[in-house]
Amino acid sequence: MPGFEIFGDEERREVLDVLDTGVLMRYGFDQARNGHWKAKTFEEELARKLGANHCHLCSSGTAALSIALAACNIGAGDEVIVPPFTFVATIEAVLAAGAIPIFADIDETLCLDPEAVAAAVTPRTRAVVPVHMCGSMARIDQIEKLCRERELVLVEDACQAVGGSFQGKYLGTFGKAGCFSFDPVKTITCGEGGAVITDDKAVYLAADAFADHGHDHIGHDRGLEGHALVGMNFRISELNAAVGVAQLRKLDFILAKQRAAKDRICAMLADCPEVTLREIPDPEGDTATFLSFLMPTEDRARQTAQDLAAAGVDGCFYWYDNNWHYIRQWPHIRQLKSAARLPIHLLDTVPDYETLDLSQSDAIMGRTISMQIKLSWSEADLAARIEKMANVLKG
Ligand SMILES: *Cc1c(COP(=O)(O)O)cnc(C)c1O
Repeated sequence: MPGFEIFGDEERREVLDVLDTGVLMRYGFDQARNGHWKAKTFEEELARKLGANHCHLCSSGTAALSIALAACNIGAGDEVIVPPFTFVATIEAVLAAGAIPIFADIDETLCLDPEAVAAAVTPRTRAVVPVHMCGSMARIDQIEKLCRERELVLVEDACQAVGGSFQGKYLGTFGKAGCFSFDPVKTITCGEGGAVITDDKAVYLAADAFADHGHDHIGHDRGLEGHALVGMNFRISELNAAVGVAQLRKLDFILAKQRAAKDRICAMLADCPEVTLREIPDPEGDTATFLSFLMPTEDRARQTAQDLAAAGVDGCFYWYDNNWHYIRQWPHIRQLKSAARLPIHLLDTVPDYETLDLSQSDAIMGRTISMQIKLSWSEADLAARIEKMANVLKG
């Protein structure tokens, strides 16, 4: 999965370009930077690759979500429909915006169930944030249609799915904005970084300003730039962007390698009677960073995860018990524990997150195991892994 597995001279060269100039900031210093604009270069190349009109590179995927929500005019008191299976950052960004996360169930895509989204819409709903979890896509066509019909803003959290697509169209390009993460363990990495893409120029300008204290970035004197709006500092440094430039150019290689490895493992799993693969609406667009499968029962899944670990098949996750990605293990979210009072604490239409009925999601997550697909596996590693998995799953 992670791009850090294949760091090489390419990343080193890009970083040295920046160090040689001493200009670590993405804006200004036009003379001193000697023609190196790493963040800008990344933005142009990602936008071109994904077929989006605009891209803003920022400090993290979490920042990208905050920027996208702000730029799409989602704020205090707005209801935003989110899945309970995601990285907690999706929820944090909604809370930071002053908005109310409304959890809707996932289906066997492990992403938002369009019917559950439809059922969760209220007169206060402003946006839907589907998360393309573990490298594969939601039923994004259906979710997009629903958002269009109900006049809801669609913001895709594609932080785990850069380069993934649905019927030939890249994930992140279906809604008003798409968000990506380039943190240290993502498919490609900047060390820390994130991006917002959009086709909407007004959304882009708001994002670009919001991420840098509201600066409009017009002209060549930072001190004379206008302030379009109240913003924040979500800037990425040129050092991080430089790593990303090299990594982005490896994306196609990474995806091809992952897909080939995943295909080999899936071929073996086809002979395992208890295993059902996660539903992938368009298998061709899968980024194959993870292989996720469902066992017949929760008990079998928990036992199988233990058996795989005992057999030396590393990198398998039973999310239902793991603290990372599922609401069941997020007491701080369910209790809205915070360092200081949040906007949501002042609102009176907030669901009781302790008593949510997410039984459909529980039933799916309780049966699900995900396995990381790694770039560093040799042919022998992969063959050995398949054999060990077969022993556990066919035995
Ligand atoms: C990683 C991730 C984020 C946040 O990205 P960071 O760069 O770590 O802040 C948001 N959503 C999902 C689904 C993620 O996997």
